[in-house]
Amino acid sequence: MIEPEIEPYVDSFYLEANRLGVELDIKKNDITITFVESDEFSGQCSYGFWNNSIQIDLGFWEDATHERKYWLIFHELGHCVLNRTEHLNEVFPNGECKSEMDGDEDNFFCSSNKYSKLWKNYYINELFFPSRNKLPDWYEKDAIPKPIEAELPVFQIKDGNSTMDTLFTVRNPIDTLHKNYQIHFQIRKWDRYDHFSFEFGDYKWFFNRFWTNQLFRIEDNVSSGGRAIFTQNKLTPNDVEVVQIERRNNFFYFFMDSKLVHIMEYQSPENDIIKIEPRNKEVRFDLKFYVFD
Ligand SMILES: [Zn+2]
Repeated sequence: MIEPEIEPYVDSFYLEANRLGVELDIKKNDITITFVESDEFSGQCSYGFWNNSIQIDLGFWEDATHERKYWLIFHELGHCVLNRTEHLNEVFPNGECKSEMDGDEDNFFCSSNKYSKLWKNYYINELFFPSRNKLPDWYEKDAIPKPIEAELPVFQIKDGNSTMDTLFTVRNPIDTLHKNYQIHFQIRKWDRYDHFSFEFGDYKWFFNRFWTNQLFRIEDNVSSGGRAIFTQNKLTPNDVEVVQIERRNNFFYFFMDSKLVHIMEYQSPENDIIKIEPRNKEVRFDLKFYVFD
């Protein structure tokens, strides 16, 4: 028995297996998936003598986006159908998860982009073929920001200012036909405990410089409430001063203090507004846009 709401995700799993030419011993009819109420897990696979069963926390399910549900079910089927009994708690050099079969043992945390088609392709492959846990070819792990010293910005704001009451807003000065550009954001004055967000199109990049919990998060669908695409914590122990977002042809690259933190496919912005929103007090910044093509 599989809960009807969950069944389409199980069908997707078997379709992927089929697409990849993987013959599964455990068929859809052999597994049971039910809802429970749990404070301890969002999903859990129990191995049985006759059949394997999965329990899904109803509370998690009701609040989750389609993609979170998808990956939760794929994760549990990874245990229960692919017989991946162990979690793979490992990260690539820039901190991206190696696998969707990650767990939270010993407070392990890594982030995977659950909304990127390119990453999906990688994680599906890794799920069915655990030996394929090499960074995808398109992931340029040693990428550094394009040098801007010799460049003239196409647009800049020097010593911009944003306070709690006055959101800083500007129209995106870059024609989105440009395939190579860099948004260079330098924080001139903010405290150790500040956080701020930078919105571009329907994306938001949220930066937190809190002493013990420095994190970086990308959200999309911001205009309709936002959903976290990618989070990275435990950044460098230094304060983040410069944030660079680069479009390189079909990709977005994210750098913090020149260190690569994430790559994903480019998606065209849904609007041309750029917003800077401090969460507690005044933020002073320099904002520059460079075009490379
Ligand atoms: Zn697990």
